Amino acid sequence: MVTEIHNGTVIAWDGTKHVVINPGVVVFDGNEITFVGAAYDDTAEEVIDATGRIVMPGLINSHLHVTDTPFTQGYLEDIGDKGPAGSATNLVSLYKVLPEVRHATDPDAQVAAAECAFAELVRTGSTTVVELGYDYEVGGNGDIAITERVADVAGRMGLRAYSGPRYRTRHYGQSPDGSVFYEDYPDKGRARFEACVDFCQQWNGRYDDRLRTMLAPGQVDTCDAELLKETRRIADAHRLPIQLHAGQSPNEFRRVGVTEDRTTVEYLDECGLLGPDFIIGHGQVMSGDGDMNSMASHEVAALRDSQTTICHLPWVKARRGGVINSIQKYKDLGIRQSLGTDTFPFDLFNDMRMAAVVCKIVEHAADAAPSKDVFAMATTGGADALGRPDLGRLAPGCRADIVLVRIDTPKAAPVYDPFKFLVLTANGEDVDRVIVDGKTIVEDGRVQTIDVPAAVSRLNKASKRVWARLGL
Ligand SMILES: [Zn+2]
Repeated sequence: MVTEIHNGTVIAWDGTKHVVINPGVVVFDGNEITFVGAAYDDTAEEVIDATGRIVMPGLINSHLHVTDTPFTQGYLEDIGDKGPAGSATNLVSLYKVLPEVRHATDPDAQVAAAECAFAELVRTGSTTVVELGYDYEVGGNGDIAITERVADVAGRMGLRAYSGPRYRTRHYGQSPDGSVFYEDYPDKGRARFEACVDFCQQWNGRYDDRLRTMLAPGQVDTCDAELLKETRRIADAHRLPIQLHAGQSPNEFRRVGVTEDRTTVEYLDECGLLGPDFIIGHGQVMSGDGDMNSMASHEVAALRDSQTTICHLPWVKARRGGVINSIQKYKDLGIRQSLGTDTFPFDLFNDMRMAAVVCKIVEHAADAAPSKDVFAMATTGGADALGRPDLGRLAPGCRADIVLVRIDTPKAAPVYDPFKFLVLTANGEDVDRVIVDGKTIVEDGRVQTIDVPAAVSRLNKASKRVWARLGL
């Protein structure tokens, strides 16, 4: 069926950048965009009036965790670190609370969390989400059942999702004295790795190709070189993207230095991971002092020339007392960047705003991280990292992943620059309609593909037993 969206302020793709056509028209046939321009001469079978709406590409949320995040909300914040190094070390939240919460969950609780997380993601305009999952990490068992159930939730809800179940050589935690410990799994995580590879092969392309899979070695400090090299070999053989957590804490950077005698970038490079299909999630502490300008020139060249993408998660960093220093520096160094929410809220508008504002603060410069650059990180930046020139832009041949944002509101009027409105004023609640793969899954701000009140009730119920196990 041919559908025409007209009378909107369209953010179109001209082949190299986003441009505004106002008023503009977007036409799609089935799941593919066939026309973007000022006027459409043909007739369409369905017409959507976008008067008072921005018509933009769906956002690509390229790093997040749906199965534990809801249980940490309200529990993980404001706790700080007990160590002498200050809250920005990320020790308590990363090494103590998160593993505890994960062990307190159960399969049904994780699925309940995923339902609400995916509902919020589509409601707030993320049409492609990259979910980095886990099962029961301690013991390194190969159980993949929860990953399959969560992928099924995303598939049935109509999202475009990349599912990356995590695996690793060892797990970590925080000892009573505040130090971080690492402990190898008995099989160094190999059974889990094989189960994840099987999952990636079996599930890639399901749900009309809306579900894709990804290799996700856990963290740079929890994976041995052999596992990372094997990851690259499998990724090349099966054409799978890779994402790994790195640059999360000063402890992690020091640990890699001690165990591998290299910096984080050198270690990843030596294991063969760097490449246009490789995403580094977090990417905040990639040097001893967390300043990009402290990276050696060969490290910068390795990231830039390999076209590796750094996925920034500014809001979760900011609320734990950390900053990325900085998005503007990464841009000036020629390194590719994308954006994700990591945890709550799953509203990528919030992270676009934080990305812009945190960078301006860090750089003491109002012209740092301009809105148009940040919008590109949240669209084409994520799409390019996934090897998807058919996502993150409105142009003929692209998938019909389209978001309509209300601008017929007091806070929006008048819209002088749509990019500045989207990044510095809007939030996910302004999203009116979401189309994924040519199908409307959010209409009038309501998710059409799941009973939201029932999902919320299931999650509230699940949280009671999870929090009881945590002793909250
Ligand atoms: Zn993460």
